[in-house]
Amino acid sequence: MILVFQVLLSMFLIFLLIKFAFHKKKDKVVTPLPENYKELLHDYVKFYRQLNDNDKTHFEKRVEHFLASTKITGVNAIAEELDIILIAAGSVIPVFAISDWQYINLTEVLLYPGTFNEDFDQEGTDRYIAGMVGSGGLQNVMILTKWQLRQGFINNSDTHNTAIHEFVHLIDKMDGTLDGVPEIILERKYVERWKQLMHITTEQIRNNQTNINPYATKNTVEFFAVISEYFFEQPELLKANHPDLYAMLKMIYKMG
Ligand SMILES: [Zn+2]
Repeated sequence: MILVFQVLLSMFLIFLLIKFAFHKKKDKVVTPLPENYKELLHDYVKFYRQLNDNDKTHFEKRVEHFLASTKITGVNAIAEELDIILIAAGSVIPVFAISDWQYINLTEVLLYPGTFNEDFDQEGTDRYIAGMVGSGGLQNVMILTKWQLRQGFINNSDTHNTAIHEFVHLIDKMDGTLDGVPEIILERKYVERWKQLMHITTEQIRNNQTNINPYATKNTVEFFAVISEYFFEQPELLKANHPDLYAMLKMIYKMG
């Protein structure tokens, strides 16, 4: 009888230990979650606002998870609660329909006040970069700019969203190559069709036959990021203007 009790007791202790270990891990928050984050999401994130209650809860969990594992640091700028929530929202939106998604190639987001140049100077007239995914010494780091980050969410009438753009680059990069073909989420059998669509649409942009941001013609990497911004910002408009592209993106992002 005593033996049984001892076995049960040790099993219970092991259970507590495991529970504690996992609990510890889960609690290791890197960026504090703003107390009013649901309110901020509701006020500033159209994508979230349009979800049903169930999906809203799901979205909130993903935001919590992102902030628990990603550091957000202001560089000559203060990362305010709104900025933190918008960055997290930008990370969740493109992969919202892909369960268990993890940005394994990101540990920190740096927030600059405004645009910068290739030397990361924040002053001068040759600044045009609004965000970037780091490489080399900045591996696993993303840079966003406060003004553009906010504009992307506040202005709902255009097809731009810098945060979504940069997170799409990260998704693209996750298969090992930044090439506009996100093999980690795009089934191999659709790769050729996707490349074909990128090519056809790039020609349409060059011939001024569409309202897609011409920056998409720079290369396939930028095409994928730019068209994804459009897809998440104005899905109905993209569906009307480019039904084939819309259908493909819906499949890529598992929104169908
Ligand atoms: Zn880009």
